[in-house]
Amino acid sequence: MPRPHSRLHVVGGGLAGLAAALAGSRAGWAVEVWEASPGFGGRCRSFVDPVLGRRVDNGNHLLLAGNRAAMRHLAETGGDRAVRLAPARFPCLDLESGERWEVGVPNGGVGFPPRPSLPPGVAGGGLLRDLGRLWRLKGDAPLGDALPEGPARRLLWDPLVRAVMNMDPDEAAAPPFRRALGEILARGPGGLRPVLFPRGLAAALVDPALDTLRARGAGLHPGRRVVGLDLGRERALGLGTRGGTVALAAGDALVVALPPSGAAALLPGLAVPEGHSPILGAHFALDAPRLPVPFMGLVGGTAEWLFQHEGVLSATVSAAGAADDAALPARLWADAARALGCEGAPPPPARLVREKAATFRQTPAGEALRPPARTRWRNVALAGDWTRTGLPATIEGALRSGASAVRALG
Ligand SMILES: Cc1cc2nc3c(=O)[nH]c(=O)nc-3n(C[C@H](O)[C@H](O)[C@H](O)COP(=O)(O)OP(=O)(O)OC[C@H]3O[C@@H](n4cnc5c(N)ncnc54)[C@H](O)[C@@H]3O)c2cc1C
Repeated sequence: MPRPHSRLHVVGGGLAGLAAALAGSRAGWAVEVWEASPGFGGRCRSFVDPVLGRRVDNGNHLLLAGNRAAMRHLAETGGDRAVRLAPARFPCLDLESGERWEVGVPNGGVGFPPRPSLPPGVAGGGLLRDLGRLWRLKGDAPLGDALPEGPARRLLWDPLVRAVMNMDPDEAAAPPFRRALGEILARGPGGLRPVLFPRGLAAALVDPALDTLRARGAGLHPGRRVVGLDLGRERALGLGTRGGTVALAAGDALVVALPPSGAAALLPGLAVPEGHSPILGAHFALDAPRLPVPFMGLVGGTAEWLFQHEGVLSATVSAAGAADDAALPARLWADAARALGCEGAPPPPARLVREKAATFRQTPAGEALRPPARTRWRNVALAGDWTRTGLPATIEGALRSGASAVRALG
Protein backbone atom coordinates (compact mmCIF):
# COMPACT_ATOMS: atom_id res chain seq x y z
CA MET A 1 0.00 0.00 0.00
CA PRO A 2 1.29 3.48 -0.80
CA ARG A 3 1.86 5.95 2.03
CA PRO A 4 -0.48 8.98 1.89
CA HIS A 5 0.59 11.35 -0.93
CA SER A 6 3.15 8.84 -2.33
CA ARG A 7 3.76 9.18 -6.03
CA LEU A 8 3.97 6.38 -8.55
CA HIS A 9 5.96 7.33 -11.64
CA VAL A 10 5.23 5.17 -14.66
CA VAL A 11 7.86 5.26 -17.41
CA GLY A 12 6.26 4.36 -20.76
CA GLY A 13 2.69 5.02 -21.82
CA GLY A 14 1.91 1.86 -23.79
CA LEU A 15 -0.80 -0.50 -22.58
CA ALA A 16 1.43 -1.93 -19.82
CA GLY A 17 2.19 1.56 -18.51
CA LEU A 18 -1.46 2.64 -18.72
CA ALA A 19 -2.53 -0.53 -16.88
CA ALA A 20 0.08 0.18 -14.18
CA ALA A 21 -1.18 3.77 -13.92
CA LEU A 22 -4.79 2.61 -13.60
CA ALA A 23 -3.89 -0.03 -10.99
CA GLY A 24 -1.75 2.51 -9.12
CA SER A 25 -4.50 5.13 -9.03
CA ARG A 26 -6.99 2.47 -7.84
CA ALA A 27 -4.58 1.57 -5.04
CA GLY A 28 -4.29 5.18 -3.86
CA TRP A 29 -1.04 6.35 -5.49
CA ALA A 30 -0.77 9.80 -7.04
CA VAL A 31 0.28 8.78 -10.56
CA GLU A 32 2.55 10.42 -13.15
CA VAL A 33 3.04 8.83 -16.59
CA TRP A 34 6.12 9.73 -18.64
CA GLU A 35 5.92 8.90 -22.34
CA ALA A 36 8.61 9.59 -24.94
CA SER A 37 6.28 9.92 -27.97
CA PRO A 38 3.87 12.78 -28.55
CA GLY A 39 0.99 10.29 -28.06
CA PHE A 40 0.22 7.36 -25.76
CA GLY A 41 -0.53 3.74 -26.72
CA GLY A 42 2.91 2.55 -27.88
CA ARG A 43 2.52 -0.46 -30.14
CA CYS A 44 -1.25 -0.20 -29.94
CA ARG A 45 -2.10 3.16 -31.46
CA SER A 46 -4.21 4.85 -34.12
CA PHE A 47 -3.32 7.77 -36.35
CA VAL A 48 -4.65 9.67 -39.35
CA ASP A 49 -2.57 8.58 -42.32
CA PRO A 50 -1.78 11.55 -44.59
CA VAL A 51 -1.56 9.37 -47.74
CA LEU A 52 -4.92 7.67 -47.24
CA GLY A 53 -6.54 10.60 -45.46
CA ARG A 54 -8.14 8.07 -43.09
CA ARG A 55 -7.68 6.96 -39.52
CA VAL A 56 -5.80 3.66 -39.27
CA ASP A 57 -4.27 1.51 -36.54
CA ASN A 58 -0.54 0.81 -36.50
CA GLY A 59 -1.52 -2.84 -37.06
CA ASN A 60 -4.50 -5.12 -36.88
CA HIS A 61 -5.00 -6.45 -33.36
CA LEU A 62 -7.02 -9.56 -32.66
CA LEU A 63 -8.42 -9.72 -29.14
CA LEU A 64 -10.83 -12.34 -27.80
CA ALA A 65 -13.58 -11.93 -25.23
CA GLY A 66 -11.84 -14.60 -23.11
CA ASN A 67 -8.95 -12.18 -22.45
CA ARG A 68 -10.16 -11.21 -19.02
CA ALA A 69 -7.68 -8.41 -18.18
CA ALA A 70 -8.50 -6.75 -21.49
CA MET A 71 -12.24 -7.01 -20.84
CA ARG A 72 -11.74 -5.57 -17.33
CA HIS A 73 -9.66 -2.73 -18.78
CA LEU A 74 -12.42 -1.92 -21.27
CA ALA A 75 -15.08 -2.04 -18.55
CA GLU A 76 -13.09 0.06 -16.06
CA THR A 77 -12.35 2.84 -18.55
CA GLY A 78 -15.58 2.85 -20.58
CA GLY A 79 -13.61 1.65 -23.63
CA ASP A 80 -16.20 -1.11 -23.95
CA ARG A 81 -18.47 1.48 -25.61
CA ALA A 82 -16.03 1.55 -28.54
CA VAL A 83 -15.89 -2.22 -29.19
CA ARG A 84 -18.24 -4.79 -30.64
CA LEU A 85 -18.24 -8.52 -29.95
CA ALA A 86 -18.49 -10.68 -33.08
CA PRO A 87 -19.76 -14.28 -33.08
CA ALA A 88 -17.14 -16.99 -32.40
CA ARG A 89 -16.66 -17.70 -36.10
CA PHE A 90 -13.48 -17.19 -38.10
CA PRO A 91 -14.04 -17.27 -41.86
CA CYS A 92 -10.99 -18.53 -43.78
CA LEU A 93 -9.86 -18.85 -47.39
CA ASP A 94 -7.14 -21.07 -48.85
CA LEU A 95 -5.60 -18.97 -51.62
CA GLU A 96 -4.02 -22.08 -53.20
CA SER A 97 -7.12 -24.25 -53.46
CA GLY A 98 -9.78 -21.52 -53.38
CA GLU A 99 -11.58 -23.43 -50.62
CA ARG A 100 -13.48 -21.40 -47.99
CA TRP A 101 -14.50 -22.54 -44.50
CA GLU A 102 -15.20 -21.27 -41.01
CA VAL A 103 -13.39 -22.19 -37.82
CA GLY A 104 -15.38 -21.67 -34.66
CA VAL A 105 -18.51 -22.55 -32.83
CA PRO A 106 -21.38 -22.09 -35.30
CA ASN A 107 -24.08 -22.69 -32.72
CA GLY A 108 -22.45 -19.98 -30.58
CA GLY A 109 -22.31 -22.32 -27.61
CA VAL A 110 -26.09 -22.70 -27.50
CA GLY A 111 -26.89 -26.35 -26.97
CA PHE A 112 -24.59 -29.02 -25.66
CA PRO A 113 -22.02 -30.06 -26.63
CA PRO A 114 -20.93 -26.99 -28.61
CA ARG A 115 -20.12 -28.31 -32.09
CA PRO A 116 -16.90 -26.79 -33.44
CA SER A 117 -16.49 -26.28 -37.17
CA LEU A 118 -13.01 -27.12 -38.45
CA PRO A 119 -10.99 -26.66 -41.66
CA PRO A 120 -11.44 -29.22 -44.46
CA GLY A 121 -9.66 -32.51 -43.76
CA VAL A 122 -9.21 -31.71 -40.04
CA ALA A 123 -10.90 -34.00 -37.51
CA GLY A 124 -11.61 -33.32 -33.85
CA GLY A 125 -9.83 -36.52 -32.74
CA GLY A 126 -6.59 -35.52 -34.48
CA LEU A 127 -6.74 -32.08 -32.88
CA LEU A 128 -7.14 -33.62 -29.43
CA ARG A 129 -4.04 -35.76 -30.08
CA ASP A 130 -2.14 -32.60 -31.15
CA LEU A 131 -3.26 -30.89 -27.94
CA GLY A 132 -2.04 -33.86 -25.90
CA ARG A 133 1.42 -33.67 -27.55
CA LEU A 134 1.45 -29.89 -27.10
CA TRP A 135 0.76 -30.19 -23.38
CA ARG A 136 3.44 -32.87 -22.91
CA LEU A 137 6.11 -30.91 -24.79
CA LYS A 138 9.23 -30.13 -22.73
CA GLY A 139 9.71 -26.43 -21.90
CA ASP A 140 12.72 -25.84 -24.16
CA ALA A 141 11.35 -27.60 -27.28
CA PRO A 142 9.73 -25.41 -29.97
CA LEU A 143 6.00 -25.74 -30.48
CA GLY A 144 6.40 -27.21 -33.94
CA ASP A 145 7.84 -30.42 -32.41
CA ALA A 146 4.33 -31.29 -31.19
CA LEU A 147 2.55 -30.56 -34.47
CA PRO A 148 2.95 -33.10 -37.31
CA GLU A 149 2.72 -31.95 -40.93
CA GLY A 150 -0.75 -32.25 -42.44
CA PRO A 151 -3.94 -30.24 -42.97
CA ALA A 152 -4.35 -29.44 -39.25
CA ARG A 153 -0.87 -27.96 -39.10
CA ARG A 154 -1.20 -25.99 -42.36
CA LEU A 155 -4.77 -24.76 -41.99
CA LEU A 156 -5.09 -24.33 -38.22
CA TRP A 157 -1.97 -24.58 -36.06
CA ASP A 158 0.48 -22.60 -38.22
CA PRO A 159 -1.87 -19.59 -38.65
CA LEU A 160 -2.91 -19.74 -34.98
CA VAL A 161 0.65 -19.93 -33.62
CA ARG A 162 1.83 -17.15 -35.96
CA ALA A 163 -1.10 -14.94 -34.90
CA VAL A 164 -0.64 -15.54 -31.16
CA MET A 165 3.16 -15.81 -30.92
CA ASN A 166 4.29 -13.80 -33.96
CA MET A 167 6.76 -16.63 -34.60
CA ASP A 168 6.85 -19.72 -36.77
CA PRO A 169 5.87 -22.82 -34.75
CA ASP A 170 9.34 -24.30 -35.39
CA GLU A 171 10.87 -21.44 -33.39
CA ALA A 172 8.11 -20.51 -30.94
CA ALA A 173 8.21 -21.31 -27.21
CA ALA A 174 5.40 -23.63 -26.09
CA PRO A 175 4.53 -22.49 -22.51
CA PRO A 176 3.02 -19.04 -23.26
CA PHE A 177 1.02 -20.38 -26.21
CA ARG A 178 -0.32 -23.26 -24.08
CA ARG A 179 -1.28 -20.86 -21.30
CA ALA A 180 -3.10 -18.46 -23.65
CA LEU A 181 -4.91 -21.30 -25.42
CA GLY A 182 -5.79 -23.04 -22.16
CA GLU A 183 -7.20 -19.86 -20.62
CA ILE A 184 -9.33 -19.06 -23.67
CA LEU A 185 -10.65 -22.62 -24.08
CA ALA A 186 -11.47 -22.79 -20.36
CA ARG A 187 -13.85 -19.86 -20.80
CA GLY A 188 -16.03 -21.83 -23.22
CA PRO A 189 -17.33 -20.77 -26.63
CA GLY A 190 -18.08 -17.21 -25.43
CA GLY A 191 -14.36 -16.69 -24.76
CA LEU A 192 -13.63 -17.20 -28.46
CA ARG A 193 -15.74 -14.21 -29.53
CA PRO A 194 -13.50 -11.65 -31.26
CA VAL A 195 -13.50 -8.09 -29.93
CA LEU A 196 -13.80 -5.66 -32.85
CA PHE A 197 -12.58 -2.07 -32.82
CA PRO A 198 -14.83 -0.28 -35.34
CA ARG A 199 -13.43 3.15 -34.36
CA GLY A 200 -9.83 1.91 -34.05
CA LEU A 201 -7.63 0.65 -31.23
CA ALA A 202 -6.99 3.98 -29.51
CA ALA A 203 -10.69 4.84 -29.20
CA ALA A 204 -11.20 1.70 -27.12
CA LEU A 205 -7.94 0.84 -25.39
CA VAL A 206 -6.03 4.11 -25.01
CA ASP A 207 -8.17 7.29 -25.07
CA PRO A 208 -10.71 6.10 -22.44
CA ALA A 209 -7.81 5.00 -20.18
CA LEU A 210 -6.27 8.47 -20.48
CA ASP A 211 -9.64 10.10 -19.67
CA THR A 212 -10.02 7.83 -16.63
CA LEU A 213 -6.51 8.68 -15.43
CA ARG A 214 -7.10 12.42 -15.89
CA ALA A 215 -10.36 12.14 -13.93
CA ARG A 216 -8.40 10.47 -11.12
CA GLY A 217 -5.91 13.36 -11.09
CA ALA A 218 -2.99 11.54 -12.75
CA GLY A 219 -0.30 13.62 -14.44
CA LEU A 220 0.17 12.65 -18.10
CA HIS A 221 3.43 13.75 -19.73
CA PRO A 222 3.64 12.96 -23.46
CA GLY A 223 6.86 13.87 -25.28
CA ARG A 224 8.93 13.43 -22.09
CA ARG A 225 11.47 10.65 -22.70
CA VAL A 226 13.08 9.33 -19.52
CA VAL A 227 16.79 9.37 -20.22
CA GLY A 228 18.18 8.05 -16.95
CA LEU A 229 17.39 6.96 -13.41
CA ASP A 230 19.18 7.99 -10.24
CA LEU A 231 19.59 4.60 -8.60
CA GLY A 232 20.79 4.12 -5.04
CA ARG A 233 21.79 0.76 -3.62
CA GLU A 234 18.29 -0.23 -2.58
CA ARG A 235 15.94 2.26 -4.16
CA ALA A 236 15.53 4.68 -7.02
CA LEU A 237 16.05 8.28 -5.98
CA GLY A 238 15.01 10.15 -9.10
CA LEU A 239 14.40 10.12 -12.81
CA GLY A 240 15.85 12.28 -15.54
CA THR A 241 13.58 13.33 -18.40
CA ARG A 242 14.17 15.44 -21.48
CA GLY A 243 13.03 18.63 -19.82
CA GLY A 244 14.22 18.17 -16.26
CA THR A 245 14.85 15.82 -13.37
CA VAL A 246 12.28 14.59 -10.88
CA ALA A 247 13.31 13.57 -7.35
CA LEU A 248 11.54 10.63 -5.72
CA ALA A 249 10.48 11.26 -2.13
CA ALA A 250 10.62 8.48 0.47
CA GLY A 251 7.63 6.27 -0.31
CA ASP A 252 7.57 7.14 -4.02
CA ALA A 253 7.95 4.34 -6.54
CA LEU A 254 8.61 3.67 -10.20
CA VAL A 255 7.18 1.27 -12.76
CA VAL A 256 9.41 0.87 -15.81
CA ALA A 257 7.03 -0.14 -18.61
CA LEU A 258 9.36 0.04 -21.60
CA PRO A 259 10.34 -2.40 -24.33
CA PRO A 260 13.28 -4.71 -23.38
CA SER A 261 16.11 -2.51 -24.72
CA GLY A 262 14.67 0.62 -23.06
CA ALA A 263 14.35 -1.13 -19.69
CA ALA A 264 17.90 -2.54 -19.96
CA ALA A 265 19.24 0.95 -20.75
CA LEU A 266 17.72 2.36 -17.53
CA LEU A 267 18.37 -0.57 -15.17
CA PRO A 268 22.00 -1.73 -15.13
CA GLY A 269 22.49 -5.50 -14.98
CA LEU A 270 18.97 -6.32 -16.18
CA ALA A 271 19.08 -9.30 -18.57
CA VAL A 272 16.38 -9.11 -21.25
CA PRO A 273 15.31 -11.29 -24.20
CA GLU A 274 17.19 -10.45 -27.37
CA GLY A 275 15.85 -9.68 -30.84
CA HIS A 276 12.48 -8.79 -32.29
CA SER A 277 9.94 -10.26 -34.62
CA PRO A 278 8.28 -7.82 -37.03
CA ILE A 279 4.65 -7.53 -38.11
CA LEU A 280 3.74 -5.99 -41.42
CA GLY A 281 0.46 -4.35 -42.30
CA ALA A 282 -0.91 -2.78 -45.44
CA HIS A 283 -3.89 -0.43 -45.21
CA PHE A 284 -5.93 0.08 -48.37
CA ALA A 285 -8.35 3.01 -48.74
CA LEU A 286 -11.40 1.09 -49.83
CA ASP A 287 -15.08 1.90 -49.56
CA ALA A 288 -16.24 -0.94 -51.84
CA PRO A 289 -16.26 -3.84 -52.46
CA ARG A 290 -16.43 -5.06 -48.91
CA LEU A 291 -15.90 -8.39 -47.21
CA PRO A 292 -19.16 -9.89 -45.95
CA VAL A 293 -17.42 -10.22 -42.54
CA PRO A 294 -15.24 -7.86 -40.44
CA PHE A 295 -12.16 -10.09 -40.75
CA MET A 296 -10.91 -13.19 -42.51
CA GLY A 297 -7.99 -15.62 -42.15
CA LEU A 298 -5.98 -16.43 -45.31
CA VAL A 299 -3.58 -19.30 -45.94
CA GLY A 300 -1.41 -20.09 -48.94
CA GLY A 301 -0.59 -16.48 -49.88
CA THR A 302 1.30 -13.52 -48.43
CA ALA A 303 -1.49 -11.88 -46.41
CA GLU A 304 -2.55 -13.83 -43.31
CA TRP A 305 -5.46 -11.76 -42.01
CA LEU A 306 -7.75 -9.19 -43.53
CA PHE A 307 -9.56 -6.72 -41.28
CA GLN A 308 -12.21 -4.35 -42.46
CA HIS A 309 -12.89 -0.99 -40.83
CA GLU A 310 -14.89 1.98 -42.08
CA GLY A 311 -13.28 2.89 -45.43
CA VAL A 312 -10.13 0.82 -44.82
CA LEU A 313 -9.21 -2.79 -45.57
CA SER A 314 -6.02 -3.94 -43.81
CA ALA A 315 -3.86 -6.98 -44.49
CA THR A 316 -1.44 -8.40 -41.89
CA VAL A 317 1.65 -10.60 -42.10
CA SER A 318 3.03 -11.90 -38.78
CA ALA A 319 6.66 -12.92 -38.24
CA ALA A 320 7.36 -11.01 -41.44
CA GLY A 321 10.99 -11.63 -42.41
CA ALA A 322 13.03 -9.33 -44.60
CA ALA A 323 10.96 -8.60 -47.67
CA ASP A 324 10.92 -6.27 -50.61
CA ASP A 325 8.60 -3.60 -49.24
CA ALA A 326 8.12 -2.02 -52.69
CA ALA A 327 6.49 -5.16 -54.07
CA LEU A 328 4.46 -6.00 -50.98
CA PRO A 329 1.38 -3.78 -51.35
CA ALA A 330 0.67 -5.30 -54.79
CA ARG A 331 1.08 -8.87 -53.46
CA LEU A 332 -1.09 -8.19 -50.43
CA TRP A 333 -3.71 -6.50 -52.60
CA ALA A 334 -3.76 -9.52 -54.96
CA ASP A 335 -4.57 -11.74 -51.95
CA ALA A 336 -7.19 -9.31 -50.66
CA ALA A 337 -8.79 -9.02 -54.10
CA ARG A 338 -9.22 -12.84 -54.21
CA ALA A 339 -11.03 -12.70 -50.86
CA LEU A 340 -13.18 -9.81 -52.04
CA GLY A 341 -13.98 -11.53 -55.32
CA CYS A 342 -12.54 -8.69 -57.44
CA GLU A 343 -9.38 -10.30 -58.83
CA GLY A 344 -7.51 -8.11 -61.27
CA ALA A 345 -8.92 -4.86 -59.82
CA PRO A 346 -6.22 -2.17 -59.65
CA PRO A 347 -4.74 -1.65 -56.17
CA PRO A 348 -6.34 1.21 -54.22
CA PRO A 349 -4.11 3.76 -52.41
CA ALA A 350 -2.10 1.86 -49.81
CA ARG A 351 0.01 2.56 -46.78
CA LEU A 352 2.53 -0.07 -45.60
CA VAL A 353 3.38 -0.15 -41.88
CA ARG A 354 6.32 -2.34 -40.88
CA GLU A 355 6.56 -2.64 -37.08
CA LYS A 356 10.12 -3.96 -36.84
CA ALA A 357 9.93 -4.57 -33.10
CA ALA A 358 6.31 -5.75 -32.93
CA THR A 359 7.16 -8.38 -30.29
CA PHE A 360 10.30 -9.83 -28.75
CA ARG A 361 11.46 -13.15 -30.27
CA GLN A 362 9.31 -15.57 -28.30
CA THR A 363 11.65 -18.54 -28.59
CA PRO A 364 12.49 -20.97 -25.74
CA ALA A 365 15.71 -18.94 -25.16
CA GLY A 366 13.80 -15.64 -25.10
CA GLU A 367 11.21 -17.12 -22.76
CA ALA A 368 13.94 -18.10 -20.27
CA LEU A 369 15.14 -14.47 -20.10
CA ARG A 370 11.79 -12.82 -19.26
CA PRO A 371 12.31 -11.03 -15.93
CA PRO A 372 9.79 -10.93 -13.07
CA ALA A 373 8.10 -7.67 -12.06
CA ARG A 374 10.27 -7.25 -8.95
CA THR A 375 13.74 -5.72 -9.38
CA ARG A 376 16.67 -5.42 -6.98
CA TRP A 377 15.53 -1.86 -6.17
CA ARG A 378 12.62 -2.13 -3.79
CA ASN A 379 10.68 0.85 -5.19
CA VAL A 380 11.17 -0.15 -8.85
CA ALA A 381 9.02 -2.72 -10.69
CA LEU A 382 8.97 -3.83 -14.31
CA ALA A 383 6.04 -4.07 -16.70
CA GLY A 384 5.71 -4.81 -20.41
CA ASP A 385 4.41 -7.59 -22.62
CA TRP A 386 7.90 -9.17 -22.60
CA THR A 387 8.19 -9.50 -18.80
CA ARG A 388 7.44 -12.82 -17.06
CA THR A 389 3.66 -12.84 -17.44
CA GLY A 390 3.46 -16.48 -18.53
CA LEU A 391 1.52 -15.21 -21.57
CA PRO A 392 2.54 -14.35 -25.11
CA ALA A 393 3.49 -10.74 -25.91
CA THR A 394 -0.04 -9.49 -26.43
CA ILE A 395 -2.51 -6.87 -25.24
CA GLU A 396 -3.61 -9.25 -22.49
CA GLY A 397 -0.03 -9.87 -21.33
CA ALA A 398 0.82 -6.15 -21.40
CA LEU A 399 -2.26 -5.21 -19.35
CA ARG A 400 -1.67 -7.94 -16.77
CA SER A 401 2.00 -6.97 -16.45
CA GLY A 402 1.02 -3.41 -15.46
CA ALA A 403 -1.20 -4.58 -12.62
CA SER A 404 1.44 -7.15 -11.50
CA ALA A 405 4.10 -4.43 -11.36
CA VAL A 406 2.00 -2.34 -8.97
CA ARG A 407 1.33 -5.43 -6.80
CA ALA A 408 5.09 -6.14 -6.76
CA LEU A 409 5.68 -2.73 -5.13
CA GLY A 410 3.72 -4.06 -2.16
C1 LIG B 1 1.55 -4.56 -35.69
C2 LIG B 1 1.22 -5.21 -34.37
C3 LIG B 1 0.20 -6.14 -34.30
C4 LIG B 1 -0.12 -6.72 -33.08
N1 LIG B 1 -1.16 -7.60 -33.02
C5 LIG B 1 -1.60 -8.02 -31.82
C6 LIG B 1 -2.79 -8.79 -31.73
O1 LIG B 1 -3.40 -9.13 -32.75
N2 LIG B 1 -3.24 -9.15 -30.49
C7 LIG B 1 -2.57 -8.79 -29.35
O2 LIG B 1 -3.05 -9.09 -28.25
N3 LIG B 1 -1.40 -8.10 -29.40
C8 LIG B 1 -0.91 -7.70 -30.61
N4 LIG B 1 0.22 -6.96 -30.69
C9 LIG B 1 1.05 -6.76 -29.47
C10 LIG B 1 0.56 -5.60 -28.59
O3 LIG B 1 0.39 -4.44 -29.36
C11 LIG B 1 1.64 -5.38 -27.54
O4 LIG B 1 1.80 -6.57 -26.80
C12 LIG B 1 1.32 -4.25 -26.55
O5 LIG B 1 0.84 -3.11 -27.20
C13 LIG B 1 2.62 -3.95 -25.79
O6 LIG B 1 2.40 -2.93 -24.82
P1 LIG B 1 3.59 -2.47 -23.87
O7 LIG B 1 3.06 -1.37 -23.06
O8 LIG B 1 4.17 -3.67 -23.21
O9 LIG B 1 4.75 -1.92 -24.82
P2 LIG B 1 4.78 -0.58 -25.80
O10 LIG B 1 3.46 -0.48 -26.43
O11 LIG B 1 5.98 -0.78 -26.62
O12 LIG B 1 4.95 0.60 -24.76
C14 LIG B 1 6.17 1.14 -24.37
C15 LIG B 1 6.05 2.66 -24.38
O13 LIG B 1 7.23 3.22 -23.83
C16 LIG B 1 7.55 4.39 -24.58
N5 LIG B 1 8.98 4.65 -24.35
C17 LIG B 1 10.05 4.01 -24.89
N6 LIG B 1 11.18 4.49 -24.35
C18 LIG B 1 10.82 5.45 -23.44
C19 LIG B 1 11.54 6.27 -22.53
N7 LIG B 1 12.88 6.21 -22.44
N8 LIG B 1 10.84 7.13 -21.74
C20 LIG B 1 9.48 7.19 -21.81
N9 LIG B 1 8.76 6.43 -22.63
C21 LIG B 1 9.42 5.55 -23.44
C22 LIG B 1 7.20 4.02 -25.99
O14 LIG B 1 7.03 5.17 -26.81
C23 LIG B 1 5.89 3.24 -25.77
O15 LIG B 1 4.77 4.10 -25.79
C24 LIG B 1 0.62 -6.40 -31.91
C25 LIG B 1 1.68 -5.49 -31.98
C26 LIG B 1 1.98 -4.89 -33.20
C27 LIG B 1 3.13 -3.91 -33.27
